[in-house]
Amino acid sequence: MSNHILMLPQQVANQIAAGEVIQRPASAIKELIENALDAKATHIQVLIKQAGKSLIKIVDNGSGIDAEDFELAFERHATSKIKNIDDLFNIYTKGFRGEALASIAAVAQIEATSRTESSSVGTLLVIEGGKSTKKETIATKIGTSIAVKNLFFNTPARRNFLKSNHTEKRHIMEEIYRVAIAHCDVRFDLKDNVSEVMQLPIATLKIRLKNIFGRKVSDNLLEVKSETSFAKIEGYVLKPKYSRKKGTPQYFFVNKRFIRNSYLRHAIITAFQGLLPEGHIPGYFIFFDIPPSKLDINIHPTKTEIKFEEAENLYAILLSTIKHSLGIHQVAPSIDFHSDPEWKLPYSYKDKDPIKPVIKHDSNYNPFGEQNTANHSGHSNYEEKKTNRVISSMLKPLNTIDSEADSKLTFQLFSKFIVRLTTDNMIIIDRQRAHQRIVYDQIMSTSKTNRIPSQQLIFPIILSLSLEQMQIIKEFKEILENVGFRMNILGDTSLQILGAPQLCPIDQIRHTIEKIIDSDLNLESKENNQVSKLIAETLAKEWTGRNTESISEHAQLELVDQLFRCNDSLVSPFGKRIIFTFDREYLIKKFD
Ligand code: ADP
Ligand code: MG
Repeated sequence: MSNHILMLPQQVANQIAAGEVIQRPASAIKELIENALDAKATHIQVLIKQAGKSLIKIVDNGSGIDAEDFELAFERHATSKIKNIDDLFNIYTKGFRGEALASIAAVAQIEATSRTESSSVGTLLVIEGGKSTKKETIATKIGTSIAVKNLFFNTPARRNFLKSNHTEKRHIMEEIYRVAIAHCDVRFDLKDNVSEVMQLPIATLKIRLKNIFGRKVSDNLLEVKSETSFAKIEGYVLKPKYSRKKGTPQYFFVNKRFIRNSYLRHAIITAFQGLLPEGHIPGYFIFFDIPPSKLDINIHPTKTEIKFEEAENLYAILLSTIKHSLGIHQVAPSIDFHSDPEWKLPYSYKDKDPIKPVIKHDSNYNPFGEQNTANHSGHSNYEEKKTNRVISSMLKPLNTIDSEADSKLTFQLFSKFIVRLTTDNMIIIDRQRAHQRIVYDQIMSTSKTNRIPSQQLIFPIILSLSLEQMQIIKEFKEILENVGFRMNILGDTSLQILGAPQLCPIDQIRHTIEKIIDSDLNLESKENNQVSKLIAETLAKEWTGRNTESISEHAQLELVDQLFRCNDSLVSPFGKRIIFTFDREYLIKKFD
C-alpha cells in the first residue's frame, strides 16, 4: 500500500461527515424539519415507511427554494443562513452549518420538489450518489417536499447499525416531540405508511403537551417564570406526584432549540429534593431565552449540546425559579423516604380503613408441655424456646394426620408459607413466590388461540396516556389481549379498558396497565416472546403482592396443585427459591 496522501473524493468526505450528523432516520427527520421551520413553514408533514429506513418524506408550506439554488442547497457548506463568522454568534435559525442536505444526499437517494412565492412553477430535482441526475419544471404548491429513499443504501455498516423499526420509530417520534413542543404555532403530522401516528394541530403549549403526553401530564403542570438581565426562563414543571421512575418528560429548550444539559438538569433535581418518591425523576418543559451572543451552539454537530457563557448564573436562577414555583404552589413533601418499604401497604389497601391490631394468643400453649420433650435440661434460653415453639406449631397438625381428612396434609404457616406433607417429606412452599410462578407460567403459555379468560368490566376504565405510551399499547395489543385485557383506543391519548384478565384484581387494573407500559418494553429486544416474558414478569410481580391474610384450605390445595403443574415449580420467575423440603433423613440427622 502506498503511503501517499490523497484528497478524499467529495462524495466520500460527505459520507464521513454524514456519519456525524445523520446517525439514523430520526436525525435526518430532525434536520429536514428544522429546515422547514427555518423556511417559516406553518404545516410540516412527515411520512415514513419502514420507520424511515425505506422512505422519509417531509412536506412543508415554507418559503421554498429558488430553481437556480436548488442543486446548491445539496452542496456541502451551502447555506442561506450565515455569511460570515460574526453571524455565527447571532443565530436565530436552526441550521447554519450548511451540511444537512449534503450529508443526507451522500447516503440516500433524494427526490425533492420546491416552489417559491415569486414563481408560478416549481422544480423537481433528483439526486443520486450525491449528484443531481434530473431537474425539471413541474406544477407544485408553494413550499418544499424532500423525499429521502433507502437511507444508508451505500453505507451498509451504518444501515446494519440501525435498530428495529419499532425502536427507530420511537426515535422519530421523540425527535418530532422536541421540535413540536418548541413550535406550538406549527402544525405537525406524522404518518407511517398509511396510518396516522401523530397529528398535532396549532395549539397553546399546554394543549400541545396534552396532545403529546396526555392529560395526566397537561393537567398537572406548575408554571415556571422568571426574567433576568441575561436570560428569560419560562415553562412548566410536572407536579412531583406525577413524576415516574422512567419516562417522565424532561425537556430543555434554548431559543426554541431542544438541548441536553446535565448541569442544568441537576439544578432541577436539586429544586425537587425531598418532594419526589424515591427513584422518581422530575418532569419539566423549560424554555430559556438567551441572547445568541452568550451561547456557542456550534460545539456539537447535531447541536443538542451547547455552551453557555454564564452557566453558573443560569444554574442558580433556574434553581431558585423552580423552588419558588414549587413553593407558591405549596407542594409539600408528601413521602417519607425513611419508611421501611417492607411495611408499605399493598396498593389494594389504599382506600381501606386501618384495622385495629388485635393480639391473638393461644391460651393452651405451654412451652414445657408434653410435646416439648426436647427441652428437658431446664436451662431454656430464648433461642431454644423459639425453636420449640416452631416445632410444636408444626407438630399440632402432624398429630392429627391419622385422624383428620386428607386435606389436613396441607396447612398454612405464618400466613406466608404453605406446608404440604407427604409420606416421607415435609414441603414448605413460599406462598407469594408460588403465586408468582403460577401467574407467570399461565401468561407465558397464552397465544392467540389460548387466551386467558377476560372479565368484562361493568364500568370501563379510561386511561389517559401519552402518544408514546399509546404506541406501546398499539404495538403489544395482541399480546395484552391474549393475556385477557380488552381495550379500545378512543383517541390519540385515551384508552378504554373494557375487560381484564380474571387473575387481575379489579382495583389493580389501572395500575397494572401503567406498570406494563413502564416496564422495559421499549428496550431493544422486540421478539414477541421477550415481550410476553416482560409482561408476564410485570404481572407476576403486580398481582401477587405480599399476601398477609390467610387463605382457605381449598385455596391452599389449589395453589399447591397449580404450582406442581408449572414447568419449574422450584424457582420463582425472579430466581428465588419457592420450595424447601425436609425429608425423613434430614430430620433424623437433626436428632443425631
Ligand atoms: P443549513 O440549514 O445549515 O443552512 P442545509 O443543508 O440544511 O443547511 O440546507 C441548505 C440550504 O437549503 C438552507 O440554508 C436553505 O437555504 C435551503 N433549504 C433547505 N431546506 C429548505 C426548505 N425546506 N425550505 C426552504 N429552503 C430550504
Ligand atoms: Mg439545515
